[in-house]
Amino acid sequence: MIDIARLRADTPATKNIVHFNNAGAALSPLPVLNSVKDHLDLEAIIGGYEAAAAAKDKIDDMYLAVAELIGAAPREIAFIENATRAWDMAFYSIPFQPGDRITTGRAEYVSNALAFLQMRDRKGVKIDLIDDDEFGQIDLGKLEAAITPRTKLISLTHIPTQGGLVNPATEVGKIARKYDIIYLLDACQSVGQMPVNVTEIGCDMLSVTGRKFLRGPRGTGFLYVRDGMIQELEPPFIDLEAGNWLQDFEYEWKPDAKRFENWERNVAGQIGLGVAVRYALDIGLDKIQTRVTHLADQMRQGLSGIPGVSVHDLGQVKCGIVTFLKEGETPAVTKQRLNTEGINVSVTQNSSSRFDLPNRNLEALVRASVHYYNNEDEIARLINAVANG
Ligand SMILES: *Cc1c(COP(=O)(O)O)cnc(C)c1O
Repeated sequence: MIDIARLRADTPATKNIVHFNNAGAALSPLPVLNSVKDHLDLEAIIGGYEAAAAAKDKIDDMYLAVAELIGAAPREIAFIENATRAWDMAFYSIPFQPGDRITTGRAEYVSNALAFLQMRDRKGVKIDLIDDDEFGQIDLGKLEAAITPRTKLISLTHIPTQGGLVNPATEVGKIARKYDIIYLLDACQSVGQMPVNVTEIGCDMLSVTGRKFLRGPRGTGFLYVRDGMIQELEPPFIDLEAGNWLQDFEYEWKPDAKRFENWERNVAGQIGLGVAVRYALDIGLDKIQTRVTHLADQMRQGLSGIPGVSVHDLGQVKCGIVTFLKEGETPAVTKQRLNTEGINVSVTQNSSSRFDLPNRNLEALVRASVHYYNNEDEIARLINAVANG
């Protein structure tokens, strides 16, 4: 069992607020916060480069910790400032040709979809949008049927920003492997709230942010690229971290995932990300998933019991993100009302999920996302506050 009292004591804000915006930015535990502050203090005392040299082991541990977390090798991990840029470094490294096809699903993240549209206009690629199955997850039969000899990429969002769905990433991986198609997984909302193993899933590339369910610092993220694929990809940018200047007119790319990085970075953030990953590993991702799923199920049940409240999460397997609507109240008003009662939730808009919410005749939803440090009392407070508005 997880020692919730200890974990809440590590999370000072749980004394003041009910935080159900973990899919936006989770609360960092004290060890993460302190590791960041300590490094900033060290920089102030001895200098930035000198502090980085002194903290080399902590900086390097981020790669070891992340590799352990997702079942990869450290050389397959790049530290990048957020999940979007991590995803971009993977996507824009793929040498698309006119007529190539990108296959994706309705849960796809807004920025990924924008990149597809840009690549359509720039290179003439085609986008195959795969419909949901009867559970609201990507339809595996339709996905396989849509594959052509020109299909260059399968891009999947594991858990969407706008709901509790968990897409069948491993089954999609089997299809990608069967047809030998590049598989890019946006695991921004899944890593940190459930076990995610790149070998089991069979993805070639995976992008993650630090601040969501991993509870890391803001402005941190990482990219995984499978060894063997790394060497086939030429990133869109190069600098002295990504490549080596060998002779006046000669250069090479770094042989490992460093080629997707850039040199200047938030060193304190990188250290904090490593500490956050270790913190999650210490608790255990299986235990985290059990706890998060339990709390989210309880929240959905409570909300469904309120007259005029509808819950909108799709999928056979659900996660810690809960989305709902209260009749006669816009999501923005619900959010504001909860906020004045000390409860943090967010609103998800159709403008950031064009493949999904409009398809379900939805304009916006209230999003309440739980983490393992939330508890039953907090859920009861949310249910009451929603009901008594
Ligand atoms: C938040 C989110 C992102 C973007 O992450 P950033 O760190 O803000 O760049 C990408 N994909 C999904 C599914 C997200 O929820």
